[in-house]
Amino acid sequence: MSQLPILSVRDALEQKLRQNKITILIGETGSGKSTQVPQIIQALNPKHERIAVTQPRRVAAINLAKRVADETKTKLGELVGYTVRFQNMSNAHTRIKFLTDGMLLRELMLRPNLGQYTTVILDEAHERTVVTDLLMGFLNDIVQKRDGLRIVVMSATLDAEKFTHFFKGAQVLYVQGRRFPVERHYLPTPVEDLVDATVRTAIQINIGEPTGDILAFLSGQEDIDKATDLLNSVSSAMPKGVPEIVPLPLYAALPPQQQQNVFDKVGPNKRKVVLATNIAETSLTIPGVRYVIDGGTHKVKVWRHDLGLDSLLTTPISKSNAAQRLGRAGREAPGKCYRLYTEHDYHTLRPQGEPEIERCDVSFPILTLKSAGVDDIIGWNWLERPKKGAIMTALTQLYLLKALDNEGKITHLGKKMAILPLPPHLSSVLLHAIDSGITQPVLDIVSCLSIENLIMNPHPDKREEVNDKRLPFVQASGNMGDLIVLRNYVLHYQSLKSNDDKREWCKELCINARAMANVEDIRKQLERYLKSNKDNIDNGKQFAPSDLFDEIVKCFLKGFVGNTALSMPDRTFRTISSGQTINIHPSSCVFGKKVEAIMYTEYIFTTKAYARMVSPIQLEWLQAIAPHYLSRRSAGDE
Ligand code: ADP
Ligand code: MG
Repeated sequence: MSQLPILSVRDALEQKLRQNKITILIGETGSGKSTQVPQIIQALNPKHERIAVTQPRRVAAINLAKRVADETKTKLGELVGYTVRFQNMSNAHTRIKFLTDGMLLRELMLRPNLGQYTTVILDEAHERTVVTDLLMGFLNDIVQKRDGLRIVVMSATLDAEKFTHFFKGAQVLYVQGRRFPVERHYLPTPVEDLVDATVRTAIQINIGEPTGDILAFLSGQEDIDKATDLLNSVSSAMPKGVPEIVPLPLYAALPPQQQQNVFDKVGPNKRKVVLATNIAETSLTIPGVRYVIDGGTHKVKVWRHDLGLDSLLTTPISKSNAAQRLGRAGREAPGKCYRLYTEHDYHTLRPQGEPEIERCDVSFPILTLKSAGVDDIIGWNWLERPKKGAIMTALTQLYLLKALDNEGKITHLGKKMAILPLPPHLSSVLLHAIDSGITQPVLDIVSCLSIENLIMNPHPDKREEVNDKRLPFVQASGNMGDLIVLRNYVLHYQSLKSNDDKREWCKELCINARAMANVEDIRKQLERYLKSNKDNIDNGKQFAPSDLFDEIVKCFLKGFVGNTALSMPDRTFRTISSGQTINIHPSSCVFGKKVEAIMYTEYIFTTKAYARMVSPIQLEWLQAIAPHYLSRRSAGDE
């Protein structure tokens, strides 16, 4: 194997690490930062060093830990391990621990000086996730106070200025990556169907271009699955002498074994086509890639103020993303990049993506700060301060959730919420459930809501059939909405004995079987968190089923007061918070029903705003749970 670029600066890096508390390391994707730097640091003082390496994505944390365990010829979970939400693969002797930025933040809440580590590496800092940003603020402070802590900030893009400016006294080191020329191709006219265009381009490359694997970027799981199916269906029908196509999906929700496949070599006369989300942009490097197909879009989390929820929106990438994608084709040899947009459209892309903190809900970061004893939110040491309006909205939300009192001080409930690995609404629901004696059913539902793509959309041809199968579960919900239906699914799933039965049943109902199996794991983890909080979760009360359903919905309402809407004569709904029009999504069991008000825990925007995961509610519940909220709103209307 040829030498990784990072190794050519090893001496300079070691010197900086020894002499400075803060080092900023800039190097192209694939230069060996994530896999080598932890090992280099560990070798400085093997008996002493305890290293945390953060990743914004759990997939990356898991894969890197595996890779480094392999490289050090140790068993995963011993010298090298990982901790991600709902999964821990490390022990007391672990020296190099990869963890998601969210997990390090939790550790920091429990142990504010991070005394368990000698070095913290913040990887993928250029991604600027809310949590990495927060960690930078905390660490900048801790490193001044605590001796014997070293910080390394690693980034794949050149704009280090923000970081050097923020971390006073930091030293910067650049690693020059190997880079071969990449030929770029644009489309003459825009395309409508990106999946189709991706598949066609991959086939053309396969027929016309010499050896080398293909990496295609699509926005999400749905498109990736479609493209994978299409490629699978044509792969055997290739002309003679043309390599067989081996399509391999790569996205966060995929089981680890399948993710691992993208790193494996395929046999002779075969060509790998990896269909990935932006995971493959900088956090994972796939060897062998010579051709990149760039669909030009990705999903980003955006806060919809008027609807009171974060949501994933498919949006155009930035020029910086486009450059990273292109770079993936030129790591080992000259390559080609096919941009599925026009050159003119390329020039309209913004230079950089907006940091997450500027566009997302900040109630979680603010709760975290409050829990860490920071009172002056606006004056805190932000790498980038959220807009004042966003801070005010978040403070109001946290007050409505009773995480803050009316002086803005954190409450006992708020402290507990801050260390649960859930967004504030869901933490609050779960903690209220304990008080109401309905922990178990609410745990089932919260676990379901913590998983993406659990209930899938049936193919149009199959829709009727699937709906028939789902009907009994809807009927058993007493018209109390989608959350109760979810619980009914979980109960039935648990009652099935064999894995085959479970798989078969999931297939019939178009439920993601893998995700359903995860629900059970998540549930156990959450239960453990609650127990470590010394919450008494076993005080289950007995209810008649319909009363239980009401209690469950009321409990969710305590966390989702801001996500409620009133029925209008034209069958649409208006949100109570902002008067925005919202529709019930056709996939909801409340769709088409006559109800006076609804609560929703999810929303999507396609052609219009849709509420998903909908429960009918009674106005008097709202009155009882949040009287000040309703009166404030109606006063505002007049
Ligand atoms: P960086 O963090 O600078 O982007 P990495 O340390 O992640 O770089 O990767 C260094 C090299 O190790 C890459 O060129 C990649 O080919 C290889 N590599 C990393 N992870 C794996 C893996 N799981 N399987 C095979 N090769 C890998
Ligand atoms: Mg990396």
